[in-house]
Amino acid sequence: MPYTIESIAQIINARRVGTLETNVDWLLTDSRSLSFPEETLFFALTTKRNRGARYIPDLYERGVRNFVLTQEDFNELEKTNCQFVASNFLIVANPLKAIQKLAEQHREKFQIPVIGITGSNGKTIVKEWLHKLLSPDRIVVRSPRSYNSQIGVPLSVWQMNKEAELAIFEAGISEMGEMRALQNMIKPTIGILTNIGGAHQENFFSLQEKCMEKLSLFKDCDVVIYNADNELISMCVAKSMLTAREIAWSCKDAERPLYISKIQKKEDHTVISYRYLEMDNTFCIPFIDDASIENSLNCLAACLYLMMPADQITERMVRLEPVAMRLEVKEGKRNCVLINDSYNSDLASLDIALDFLVRRSETKGLQRTLILSDILETGQSTTTLYRKVAQLVESRGINKIIGVGPEISSCAARFDMEKYFFHTTEELMASQVLKSLRDEVILIKGARSFKFDLVSDELELKVHETILEVNLGAMVANLNHYRSMLHPETKMVCMVKASAYGAGSYEIAKTLQEHRVDYLAVAVADEGVELRKAGITASIIIMDPELTAFKTMFDYKLEPEVYNFHLLDALVKAAEKEGMTNFPVHIKLDTGMHRLGFSEKEIPLLIRRLKNQNAIIPRSVFSHFVGSDSPQFDTFTRGQIEIFERASKILQEAFSHKILRHICNTAGIERFPEAQFDMVRLGIGLYGISPIDNAIINNVSTLKTTILQIRDVPEEDTVGYSRKGRLSRPSRIAAIPIGYADGLNRHLGCGNAYCLVNGEKAPYVGNICMDVCMIDVTNIDCQEGDSVIIFGDKLPITVLSDVLETIPYEVLTGISTRVKRVYYQD
Ligand SMILES: *Cc1c(COP(=O)(O)O)cnc(C)c1O
Repeated sequence: MPYTIESIAQIINARRVGTLETNVDWLLTDSRSLSFPEETLFFALTTKRNRGARYIPDLYERGVRNFVLTQEDFNELEKTNCQFVASNFLIVANPLKAIQKLAEQHREKFQIPVIGITGSNGKTIVKEWLHKLLSPDRIVVRSPRSYNSQIGVPLSVWQMNKEAELAIFEAGISEMGEMRALQNMIKPTIGILTNIGGAHQENFFSLQEKCMEKLSLFKDCDVVIYNADNELISMCVAKSMLTAREIAWSCKDAERPLYISKIQKKEDHTVISYRYLEMDNTFCIPFIDDASIENSLNCLAACLYLMMPADQITERMVRLEPVAMRLEVKEGKRNCVLINDSYNSDLASLDIALDFLVRRSETKGLQRTLILSDILETGQSTTTLYRKVAQLVESRGINKIIGVGPEISSCAARFDMEKYFFHTTEELMASQVLKSLRDEVILIKGARSFKFDLVSDELELKVHETILEVNLGAMVANLNHYRSMLHPETKMVCMVKASAYGAGSYEIAKTLQEHRVDYLAVAVADEGVELRKAGITASIIIMDPELTAFKTMFDYKLEPEVYNFHLLDALVKAAEKEGMTNFPVHIKLDTGMHRLGFSEKEIPLLIRRLKNQNAIIPRSVFSHFVGSDSPQFDTFTRGQIEIFERASKILQEAFSHKILRHICNTAGIERFPEAQFDMVRLGIGLYGISPIDNAIINNVSTLKTTILQIRDVPEEDTVGYSRKGRLSRPSRIAAIPIGYADGLNRHLGCGNAYCLVNGEKAPYVGNICMDVCMIDVTNIDCQEGDSVIIFGDKLPITVLSDVLETIPYEVLTGISTRVKRVYYQD
């Protein structure tokens, strides 16, 4: 349903500059996600950290002609020398409000049922399951992935089209007052409140207030669905006096509209009996966990309200599948990178996954390949669907497509690139095509029935069964957590030294660069070179520049730290020899650590030396705290800040250009907000650990392995070297492929620590060996091949560092490089 640019200008009440007549089909808020420039309208949103308007010249280059922006941004653009011919600028007071207004107007055009889902957990699963349950009978539009925010919801609502017969949208809020805008856009007719938990608690006065805010989504609903057994929710529903009908479900109260009379958990499924409108029925789901049961009951209520026959509900419930939200990045054979996306296929999620693929391939200079199955249950005709797929794939510069399934194969002619088509996954596996892939970034995206895990198994590089899983989404959440403590203008250096505290520097650096951190910092030049070769373009500081690596630093634009006159003189000499001018360097001051750095009284001489040359230029000046994590040293820390303040001021006053000042590490950001100066340096906090109390913020890394063998060992026998593990009872002992050569410290052995097997504590028995160790699984239900968590969400790394009487930094950075790193993004 394209809109003319003029009609949009009217809807959002914009002043239009430009006369180009075009239609708009796509809304864009993130310049990196561009697919169809000509039909795109870009909203230049200003966030605390970024100005979308910065990307307008680049987007114009790439063919975008329509922009929404503020008057100030427009004035700024006019000052640049860019020529924007044949384009439209829609000037508004607030671009975010504008995109929301447009979504509201778009929503108004539809008289169809709209399901709005909110709650702390389970929104996305309920949405996906409802789609699965309802879409065979009607055309359903839904939010892609978990697009549920102030920006995500307008983009979701924009997906409503003429064919749509039902829509399902999620609404997520992190602060009070945010729901109103979401309600105006979604205007749900059916409301589902999944549950209320403690997520994002910090901004809420109380759980009750949070619940009331969430319920405001339902103010004009015809019906609301919720768990009546949750007292808080029941109470809030009563208090909020909604006019809607209620389908409250309850396992206790037979008087409630939907009474759940029985829940029987079996080995791998659950049988649920219910009474609705005086009728008793039963259905079964292939899950046994409580969260899945709750999610299925919310779905049940919605299906009943939409008058789906009970036998159809039963038939479809049993076929529900887990919802995979992750985009997983893995190392493939023959220098390939694999991106696995088993998320239910649809065009919007294909678009998101392709975007992710492009970003991973851009910098490494790898070819782009897509392995795609038939996209099921979209409600569109085969020809229309694959015409759109072909356009999308082409616009993303995909070099090769491998299609699997009868439908996509029938549209082979539409794809104008290297291509292979197969009717089934077995045919693909039997061909030579997978073996021919090399130096490619490969997106593997298939509906579950196509069993694409066979394909990724075939392509995956397998080295070792022990892996470190790194959650990039959690890292970004940590980044934002610390950003929220800063003044908007404070810049940030992210420390990716020591292989990003063990997490692996490239993927981490890449993700940080995407989130526009100002600087990355590594220890030595070689680490910086590796990042540059892999395509990282962000500014990089070298904390420990070797005298032998100056030329490398100039060649790769790696900015060294300078901490004494010896280094300074050598650097200036090398820079002059290479004909450099104004090469940026970072001056380190010693304010108490007494490790490296210029002292306060050396500043005048430092200034004289710096002024005597123009090969290098101080870009920043900094110092490092000794004990900012502990109140015990607060007087000392304040002393450091005072010295730094004074010394750096003297340096700054000697130069006319701005020299960035920074002293805070993670603990400093948390405890000395007044010492932010121009920039801060975030380290351990990025990786999820607060240095103050070792609390885990959002866990980033999980070290896991699998059980190789289990055996029964009699009482009094011993396990492992030197007969250290003597058994006091008949035991079941499991061997796992991780040892001290992988970074599992030998002092954790002999019962000093434990790992988790199926959620239960399994102590290490006997000495830890080089590559293997043994654990006691006597009372744990487990078998060979089961996964074992060394540390992760449920077993914080700090438990291990405490046993070892060290800091988590040491445990993290001690994980050997032979442990494969696997990255994923929620
Ligand atoms: C490692 C490092 C940091 C980061 O410290 P965290 O405690 O991990 O936040 C900051 N500044 C310098 C100079 C560092 O070497």
